[in-house]
Amino acid sequence: MSDQNAIQVINEEKQFAPTVLPYFKQILKENNIDQNYHVISVFGSQSSGKSTLLNVLFNTQFDTMDAQLKRQQTTKGIWLAHTHDINNNSGDHSPLKEEIFVLDVEGSDGAERGEDQDFERKAALFAISVSEVLIVNLWEQQIGLYQGNNMALLKTVFEVNLSLFGNSHQKKKVLLLFVIRDHVGVTPIQSLSESLISELESVWKGLNKPIGSEDVDLHDFFDLKFVGLGHKILQNEKFIQDVKDLGDNFSQAEETYFKPIYHHMLPLDGWCMYAENCWDQIENNKDLDLPTQQILVARFKTNEILEEAFNNQFKDYDDIITPILDNKDKLLIKLKSIKDDCLKEYDELASRYTKQVYLENRENLILKINEKFDISIIGYLMELTDSLSNKLQDDIKNMTINKKLPFIECLTISIDTATQNYDTTLQEFEEAHLLTEYASKKDTFAKLMNAKTTELKANELKAVIARLKKSISFHIKDEVISLLSNPSPDIWDKILAKFENILTEKLDRYKIKKPVSKQVEDTNNETSDHKESVSEDEDKAPIYDFQVGLTQKENEVTVKKIRFIAWLCLSVTVHDYLKPDTVVSILRDRFENSFRYDENDSPILWKNEEEIDESFKLAKQKALEILDVLCVAKTSENIEVVPDLSIEDEEEYEDDDVTYHITRFSRILNELEKEKVLKQFKRQVNITVIDSKRSIMRTTTH
Ligand code: GDP
Ligand code: MG
Repeated sequence: MSDQNAIQVINEEKQFAPTVLPYFKQILKENNIDQNYHVISVFGSQSSGKSTLLNVLFNTQFDTMDAQLKRQQTTKGIWLAHTHDINNNSGDHSPLKEEIFVLDVEGSDGAERGEDQDFERKAALFAISVSEVLIVNLWEQQIGLYQGNNMALLKTVFEVNLSLFGNSHQKKKVLLLFVIRDHVGVTPIQSLSESLISELESVWKGLNKPIGSEDVDLHDFFDLKFVGLGHKILQNEKFIQDVKDLGDNFSQAEETYFKPIYHHMLPLDGWCMYAENCWDQIENNKDLDLPTQQILVARFKTNEILEEAFNNQFKDYDDIITPILDNKDKLLIKLKSIKDDCLKEYDELASRYTKQVYLENRENLILKINEKFDISIIGYLMELTDSLSNKLQDDIKNMTINKKLPFIECLTISIDTATQNYDTTLQEFEEAHLLTEYASKKDTFAKLMNAKTTELKANELKAVIARLKKSISFHIKDEVISLLSNPSPDIWDKILAKFENILTEKLDRYKIKKPVSKQVEDTNNETSDHKESVSEDEDKAPIYDFQVGLTQKENEVTVKKIRFIAWLCLSVTVHDYLKPDTVVSILRDRFENSFRYDENDSPILWKNEEEIDESFKLAKQKALEILDVLCVAKTSENIEVVPDLSIEDEEEYEDDDVTYHITRFSRILNELEKEKVLKQFKRQVNITVIDSKRSIMRTTTH
């Protein structure tokens, strides 16, 4: 459908009419017009029959002077009509595939020109900025007379064109189509065109060309065509035929005046904005730079298309994505299809605009899409991370039980499996081009796994130490109390031997075979002091590995820690047990054993008091020989027992109680307590001896 009724684009006040945009929107609604349209402008002096020609040639309805009541000028400004009906020889107004927009420039006539030169210049700039073909309408009799009007108009067109394209590398061409009216035919069109060309060239020569464009040629910018038309009133039939012949040039592919090089290649939906921007620049006397204008339009339109495509494809996003947020495969498929659809919608409309701008905004759209996706993907990855890292502990436990592998191996396998699982997922999103910041997402997980490894190792080590502590403590208490309850003078030798036994036995499962020969460098690194003290035993010293991924040094530290715990336990056990009252009863036991029983454990029967006194003396002596042993812990070689560790090793246990136990291990009862024990012991045994004597007296009296 064509809308031949003309509308005003630029009004008499030189304003771009607000009605143009809705007019184009309407056209675009009814027609699918992309870049398949053409723009033609017509120039020429007032009342030279321009509008009359356009109406016959393009089946438009521009106002003509004939339609007015009087011979008065039609409304000034630039008018536009839309058509695809061209009057040609192939039939009545055969429809074209391509749409045509015709701009009718209504200037002033010769008399008024001076005052309105400004409009003519602006109109020329505008026409060149938006059209492919400029029709210059002139009377035959004006040719050769250097009739001021037309040549002044062409001079303006040339100047304007130079200002637009003179310095541009890319030569934009315009077709100047001279339509010679009232061509009687006496002078052939050929010679008319020759004299016009020479006039044009002399005008071109006389132009002030911009610096750098002094040598540019008229034909670099303009293609020239010449057509004569018969007198409309006197030779109407010929006029109509001539118009039809002219129409062929616009409608038949072989001889068409439309060439791709004239076209601005702007999709029609951006044309109106482009035209308005151009007019704005022109009207405000700003430098008009057409490529820039096209880029501005492209930027605006591709942005608009981007937003629209995004809004269309993402309007139900949350409703669609939320239910499948826990299903990776569905999520991948859906996200990919949303992205593809969105880009497809964008590409379809935006790819017609300046390529660089279209591609730029395509990247922006991808960013925008991925940003939106990122929220969902991060959500999914966070769930995955949680489930993977929560599973670790159980996995390790199961693996330790089922596969009987050491903890550290299970840990490594579990962490590797989790990392692989996560990375594979991440890769799937990456390969589907749905991901941003792949590396950092990978890194975040890796860091988490490192932290988790450290945490799990520390927990396991604590558990190992706790288990050892429990079993070592139990055995120490058990064995040591049993030894102390029936002490011998070499009790501390026995206790120390027991202590070492228990430790060795409990640590045994963590002992690893020593490497065949200790590395030389290793020994060299030791301090000379250390070398001396351990050189003899070094090959025999066991190496431990607690299977929680510790370095040898850390394993050694752990052994020390366990030794420390064991010492502490020993000390607490000894000190708690050997309270004065207990010591008194130990001494008494010892006394009673010797006093009341013989070597065969048979009760002794005394015959007289002398015997009792003798036994008592011996038994007391035997009992007391153990008192010093229980007051100060000394080996049989009379060396005070000192724990073979330094308190600095154990920062964890640095409290006064611990310090006391470790530094004063051997000091069990002080002098005061010893006196008290002695006193109590003596009292008790004295009673025993008196009782014994009484019992003899009783037997003898009876
Ligand atoms: P415009 O101002 O250039 O658009 O001119 P119009 O189309 O309004 O026509 C102005 C006058 O010229 C009208 O009175 C027409 O009848 C007349 N006219 C139109 N075509 C021709 C033509 O081919 N030859 C002559 N001599 N007059 C014409
Ligand atoms: Mg007119």
